[in-house]
Amino acid sequence: MRNHKISLKEIVSYAKKYGFIFPTSEIYDGINAIYDYGPYGIHLKNNIKEYWWRSMIQINENIIGLDTSILMHPKIWKASGHAERFKEIFLYNKSKNYSYRLDFLLEKIFKPNSKGDNYLCKKLCKIKTKKNNLKKRIIQYIADNIVLKKYKKILVLVKKFQDKWNYIYEYKLMFQIDFKKQTIYLRPETAQGIFTNFLNVQNSSKLKIPFGIAQIGKVFRNEIMARQFIFRMREFEQMEMQFFIHHKDEDKWFKYWKNKRLIWHLTIGLGEKKYRYFEHEQLAHYAKQAYDIQFNFPFGFKELEGIHSRRNFDLKKHEKYSKKKLRVFDKENQRYYIPYIIETSVGIDRIFLAILSSSLKMEVLKQKTKRTVLKINPSLAPVKAAIFPLIQDKRLIAYAKYIFNSLKTSFLLTYEENDSIGKRYRRQDAIGTPICVTIDFKTLKDKCVTIRYRDSMLQKRVLIKNLKKEIKQETSINKLLTKFLMLESTK
Ligand code: ATP
Repeated sequence: MRNHKISLKEIVSYAKKYGFIFPTSEIYDGINAIYDYGPYGIHLKNNIKEYWWRSMIQINENIIGLDTSILMHPKIWKASGHAERFKEIFLYNKSKNYSYRLDFLLEKIFKPNSKGDNYLCKKLCKIKTKKNNLKKRIIQYIADNIVLKKYKKILVLVKKFQDKWNYIYEYKLMFQIDFKKQTIYLRPETAQGIFTNFLNVQNSSKLKIPFGIAQIGKVFRNEIMARQFIFRMREFEQMEMQFFIHHKDEDKWFKYWKNKRLIWHLTIGLGEKKYRYFEHEQLAHYAKQAYDIQFNFPFGFKELEGIHSRRNFDLKKHEKYSKKKLRVFDKENQRYYIPYIIETSVGIDRIFLAILSSSLKMEVLKQKTKRTVLKINPSLAPVKAAIFPLIQDKRLIAYAKYIFNSLKTSFLLTYEENDSIGKRYRRQDAIGTPICVTIDFKTLKDKCVTIRYRDSMLQKRVLIKNLKKEIKQETSINKLLTKFLMLESTK
């Protein structure tokens, strides 16, 4: 069996052909970087959400869920700093008719995790600028944020930007809506809905610090550099958990969640080598410590999930802007305090892309036949099992339908009777169905069916009465949760 490396282009066309992801509004030529999830994509997405949700809410007695609105009071975004600071700086190059996002450009050139060089920073600060605040700010940004070894390159860049970059501009990332003569925003993160409900949740649940609030929901960012398929979209979905702690425990909980979130990803089975940590040196305006879990996508290692210590930045700001106290009582010291927060934040669409890009295989089999197979974790597979009568014979069809009906309340199944059995296997391989069940003439006598496994293509006979157990054992989300708990106890 041979494999070839799958390109992003192949993933995009696979996703459309097999009903995972479609470009939105395609008949009107679409909208860049917005996508629709197709009939199989939606099940995969829901299964990812279910696994995350249960691994947060069901396994941890001190984490509870929330579902807050997308449209919120505009003051929230002033308090959080997003209204002012959630924007990107771009350099426009007229000859190339192209805008470069400054942080990406710098990251590409300088690989900013090398250790500092004060000499260069000083030199950069001395560079004279005309009375152009934005230019000044960019140079300051470079000086403040980039620790350099390869400082010669930065001088080249600055020179270039003085000569060649035609203008520099800022781009706001929040979408705005007019509402009753004021501007409100589509939320760019789910976190603020958690912070602003923090006391409601605490008062109604009586949870004591440390405790967490988890939320899954849509968010919107007007990304100018939207590309790389569903990696960077303008409308996407986040799964966030905000963990409220006493400040003395910051390091302990930060390490705990950094470790735990990587373990969660590893259970999906895409291979340990595909993941790595990346420590931020350039922190978001709210963060005091930040690590990314990066994944090796077809275009290289990129952020999959962020783990941040937001400290009490957000709650403090909301206290100030709302003039409401957002504090908990510290029994030991007999005083109220604003808790610190450790955040874990991951985009479902990026997990989806990680899974597709690592699990999609084009295999050349022994007899030089080819198969497209999605070797996805069976617990996340869109369809759990396919039920086939071997041929279109009345008795076999009736038996297969009887089995389908008796199992359909337990699993998402599919039934097929058209085409040869080989072609039906191929179709199910391509959408990642872990088990195919075939009813043949022997079944009528021995009450057994043939089970065929997607990855190994091995077959075995199973008694019909054991079929439910067999499918459940292979495909339930509980299996992933058990693996997660096991791995957690060993790492
Ligand atoms: P990036 O540096 O890639 O722009 P970010 O640091 O802005 O990402 P966060 O604000 O930390 O991302 O958001 C948390 C998570 O949301 C990210 O780890 C990622 O999985 C997901 N995410 C962020 N932006 C997008 C997007 N435009 N499309 C899809 N998922 C996204």
